[in-house]
Amino acid sequence: MNGTESTSSLFPGGFVDAHAHFFPPRMFSAVWDFFETHNWRINYKGDPDFLADVLRGFGASHFTVLNYPHKPGVRDGLAEWTRDFSARQQGSIPFGSLLPGEPGNLEAAARWFGDWGFRGLKMQPLVSCRPINQPDMYPVFELMAERGKWFVVHAGTAPYPNEFTSLDDLEALLSDIPELKTILCHMGGFDFEKALAMMEKFPNLHLDTAMIFVDAKVFDSAFALPDERLLPFADRIVFGSDFPNIPYDFSEAVDGLKRRGFDDAFLRGVFRENSRRMFELD
Ligand SMILES: [Zn+2]
Repeated sequence: MNGTESTSSLFPGGFVDAHAHFFPPRMFSAVWDFFETHNWRINYKGDPDFLADVLRGFGASHFTVLNYPHKPGVRDGLAEWTRDFSARQQGSIPFGSLLPGEPGNLEAAARWFGDWGFRGLKMQPLVSCRPINQPDMYPVFELMAERGKWFVVHAGTAPYPNEFTSLDDLEALLSDIPELKTILCHMGGFDFEKALAMMEKFPNLHLDTAMIFVDAKVFDSAFALPDERLLPFADRIVFGSDFPNIPYDFSEAVDGLKRRGFDDAFLRGVFRENSRRMFELD
């Protein structure tokens, strides 16, 4: 644990973290080992309940609980863990995750979005190595559009691409189901230009700021376009951190955005008001 915990919020009035990860302890350790053998130091490690405390200590009033299976057979156990963890964590916003092609996906999603109260689905094509818009996923996305659930997807080429991370797959999906409320992680990096073109085209598309706008040495995390380009989308950009899997102090995620010269109204929207409206937080 290298971070400095704060007892007052890093953003005045508190913030919502729309991109935070929580895994069962053994999976967390496996994820961290993977990152660290790839030269990606993890700044915050510990028991998931402890880490939720740390995140609230930074000033997060609410945070998503994002995780994802890396192989078939993991889905249901992971979702049960998410359900139980979120039930005891104040401010948590639970998400499920699916591997395209795994039998029972639609039934699992219907269970999560019904009784379990999950707010959406996170997908990680870099890990799942399957197209997000496989035909078998369409009933799931249609159910989500109908129920107003959120699709959080890490597509784009940052920090590393594979053949499944192209924004083209997301664009094809949103062309078919434009009602699907979607948050594209990492501002769509490194495909910023294409991401903003998609923001123009799809009014239900949103962006999260995770690991962009920070001064970090792991990969080129700079937003490569003029900041003014973001102003038309001020109500569709949300703060996300990627906590705890970040190789720098959490405060950098907040301060990096504050340094950019956005006005207070923009920052309040990004750090708090947009997420509160989108997730209907009290
Ligand atoms: Zn992430």
